[in-house]
Amino acid sequence: MNIVIFGPPGAGKGTQSSLIVEKFNLHQLSTGALLRKEIKENTNLGREISSIINDGNLVSDVIVGDLIEKYISNNIYKNRLIFDGYPRNLIQAKNLNRLLNKYDQKIDIVLKLSVTLETIKKRISERKNLEKRTDDTEIIAIKRFVTYEDNIKPVIDFYKQSNLLKVVDGETSISEISNEISGLIEGYKGWLWRIRQYKYAGNRNSLIYGSYCRDKHSTK
Ligand code: AMP
Repeated sequence: MNIVIFGPPGAGKGTQSSLIVEKFNLHQLSTGALLRKEIKENTNLGREISSIINDGNLVSDVIVGDLIEKYISNNIYKNRLIFDGYPRNLIQAKNLNRLLNKYDQKIDIVLKLSVTLETIKKRISERKNLEKRTDDTEIIAIKRFVTYEDNIKPVIDFYKQSNLLKVVDGETSISEISNEISGLIEGYKGWLWRIRQYKYAGNRNSLIYGSYCRDKHSTK
C-alpha cells in the first residue's frame, strides 16, 4: 500500500507518518527530511537548495522528482511508501502517478491534514524549542503556509477526481488524528480484502463451471 499525506507545513505530517509507518510497516519518504539531510551534509545539492528552503520556497520539481524516484524504483520499498511532503503541486502529483506507474505501483490513499494558520504558528513555536530547523520562524512559517495554499488547490482537485482523497481534521490531538488515520487505512484494507474475496469467489465459480462442462463432455 502506498499513501500520500499532505497538509500545510506544521500540520503534523511527519509525526503522523512516523506513527503510520510503525503500525502498518511502511517506509516514510519525507522530501523535506531528505533535502535537509543534503544541507546538513553540505553536499553540492545541499548548497544549491539551502537558501531556497530557508526562504520558505519550493525546491525545483526535477530535484525532488529525482530524489523520490530512487525510493520508488527500489524493490525494498515497493508498495510500502508513505509520501510525506510530496506532491506539493500539480506537476509533482502527475509526476508521482507517472513514476508509480513506471514501477508498476499506484497510490492507495491520499490523506489531507486540515489545519489553520493560527494552529500552525502555535505548533511551530513549540517545535522550535525541540528541533533546530532554520526554516521554523513565524515569518517563514507564514510564507510556507502561503506557498502551500497557492500550489495545493489543483492537487486536491486532482486527487478528488480519482476518489482517493480523505480529509482529516488536523486540529485535534496527535492520538485522535492517528486513530482517525488508522481507521481509514484499516477501512481501505478491509475493502481490498472484500474485493479479493469477491474476485476469488468469481474465479471459483468459473472453476466449478469449468469442471461442470468437463464433466458433461466426459459423459459423452
Ligand atoms: P517539509 O519538511 O515537508 O515542511 O519541507 C521543508 C521544505 O523543504 C519546504 O518548505 C520546501 O522548501 C522543501 N520541500 C519539501 N518537499 C518539497 C517538495 N515536494 N517540493 C519542493 N520543495 C519541497
